[in-house]
Amino acid sequence: MAFKALWATKPDDAVKVELVDLETDALMAGDVTVAVDYSTVNYKDGLAVTGAAPIIQTFPLVPGIDFSGRVETSSHPDFKPGDRVVLNGFELSMSHQGGYAQKARVPGEWLVKLPDAISNRDAMAIGTAGYTAMLSILALEHGGVTPDRGAILVTGASGGVGSISIALLSKLGYRVIASTGRPEGADYLKRLGAAEIIDRATLSAPGAPLGPERWAGAVDSAGGRTLVNVLAQTQYRGTVAACGLADSLDLPGSMVPFIRRNITLAGIDSVNAPQSVRSTAWQRLATDLDLAKLGQTVEEIGLAEVPAVAAAILQGKVRGRTLVDVNR
Ligand code: NDP
Repeated sequence: MAFKALWATKPDDAVKVELVDLETDALMAGDVTVAVDYSTVNYKDGLAVTGAAPIIQTFPLVPGIDFSGRVETSSHPDFKPGDRVVLNGFELSMSHQGGYAQKARVPGEWLVKLPDAISNRDAMAIGTAGYTAMLSILALEHGGVTPDRGAILVTGASGGVGSISIALLSKLGYRVIASTGRPEGADYLKRLGAAEIIDRATLSAPGAPLGPERWAGAVDSAGGRTLVNVLAQTQYRGTVAACGLADSLDLPGSMVPFIRRNITLAGIDSVNAPQSVRSTAWQRLATDLDLAKLGQTVEEIGLAEVPAVAAAILQGKVRGRTLVDVNR
């Protein structure tokens, strides 16, 4: 039976994405077929759908790096029809068809069963951005950064990872400092739980290798000089979770914070994280995220609106999370 999907082709140098009807024989290899309910627009989706970075490696392809849905058919021993599942990353939108479709067929190893407390809609309101926020907080905890140790800085605060990090950290009892380039959104960040707002420009200029010790840890979506300055101002034995590169891919910094202040720089990869880590993150999201706050971050769109939002997210014009109802 036909289903709706976004279809990415590359007729010349540019990526073209259009809404089409596909037949089930267009689905790729896998032992679980899922009726998709929701997907989202993450920064990586912006890169893929606009063609700004070579995320999609096989054309034509359905983009979308994540989805939630219900299992329709399965020959995988861990899944049966009706199971509610979520998928973040792996080969989705790279070499395997992704979440911007009403149907997906994937290897069961890539799926996680959703906890009862998280609906399929909430799962994609959280999306890869929120799951990455949780992975970042697990890294801070692994580094021994407890709320009594001091404040946590969140960069890219108005974005998806940033917004959900703030909501999670404040519920866990941390004092949150939010760094943003959109000071007009301060009320939004405070409603999510930020105690203090700083201008991201104060972290983007070249700075000294060591500065005042301002935060016990950080969740950084920016990379580049921002991350270097974040490290320079992290307290003794603090941990910085580096998950994004909205500022830059580079790390033009110094060894000094590592050897003088014993700082830990924790890398975060959501795409190939092992199943045990994924399950822990989703279980913790079920208990540690205030769903009312999550609701404040969400805009809902249909498949046809994805290309416009993909362009906007790269320009830093999207606030919070964009949920895609693939059946709208
Ligand atoms: P968003 O676009 O939603 O958020 C990024 C935010 O970063 C923007 O909203 C903006 O916030 C801030 N920002 C934009 N440009 C700059 C800049 N030049 N310098 C500093 N800050 C900037 O993206 P997501 O939240 O979806 O993703 C954030 C980052 O994390 C991306 O780089 C993404 O690729 C990465 N990521 C990595 C994952 C992993 O597995 N490691 C998984 C998911 C995301 P404000 O206006 O408040 O300053």
